Amino acid sequence: MGVTINRKNAKVRNCFSVDVEGFVESNLQSFHIEDKYVSRLKENYEIEKNVNSILNYLDNLSIKGTFFFLGRIARDIPNVVRETAQCGHEIACHSHKHLRIFGLTKEEFKNDLICAKETLEDVSGKSVYGFRAPDFSITKSSMWALDILKEVGFLYDSSIYPTEIHDVYGISGTTPFIHRLRNGLIEFPLSTIEFFGRRFPFGGGGYFRLFPLILTKFFINKVNKIGHPCMFYLHPYELGPIIPKIPKLTHYRRFRHYHNCNNGSERLKGILQTFRFGTAIGILKERNLQIIPEL
Ligand SMILES: [Zn+2]
Repeated sequence: MGVTINRKNAKVRNCFSVDVEGFVESNLQSFHIEDKYVSRLKENYEIEKNVNSILNYLDNLSIKGTFFFLGRIARDIPNVVRETAQCGHEIACHSHKHLRIFGLTKEEFKNDLICAKETLEDVSGKSVYGFRAPDFSITKSSMWALDILKEVGFLYDSSIYPTEIHDVYGISGTTPFIHRLRNGLIEFPLSTIEFFGRRFPFGGGGYFRLFPLILTKFFINKVNKIGHPCMFYLHPYELGPIIPKIPKLTHYRRFRHYHNCNNGSERLKGILQTFRFGTAIGILKERNLQIIPEL
């Protein structure tokens, strides 16, 4: 299963993306977190420190990525969004308040989306083309969100996990590679690999932290070999330096949410130095899927 690739010679460019949110707001809908651990002030400090660290990290490796920001982050700590844009990364949208879409009405989602897009564009001074749903929450019951994304002016979505194995997200049987949806929107799905007729996720986050590094490299290579880019994603708290510890979590939760968080940046280097990475919008443009005047 050895994977030896020189990233300069690799033909396919993958997307490196970051879902920018704090640890607590990321997990509030997944498990109970006592109010005393919920602090906007601490969360903003955590995001600011961690995003700065990622920006330095990517700068050292000369890699540009796509940062899916919450609109509320642009409102509360605009300097973080501005700095990310100034470093040449793509600014994309991760909703305004990080609420799962299938729990919202169409109207609530539309209002949240408009607010997030406008705030991100005002603060960054750049057009926002891409969207990722909190917890990949565009599922069979919330496919209507794709039409609202198009209506509000997004060019691509990166919310669909083409898998059936997760309890919260995933749509089985959908196209697992970049494709144009019937309404004209481009879908850049999260990365999966097929085994025994089923698709398994491997594109980042917990999968990246829990799987052996060599397995992730093997999967990326397998997808790139057939000419498709992977969509890789992480959260700022998975790289640190600030990884908030919520006490009294079950062993399962501790393992799932904290395993390999503290050596994430070393593991990530193994991926970023092996394969080629760039922004989502850059990859779509490279593949002639969108002609966008100015990136
Ligand atoms: Zn998120």
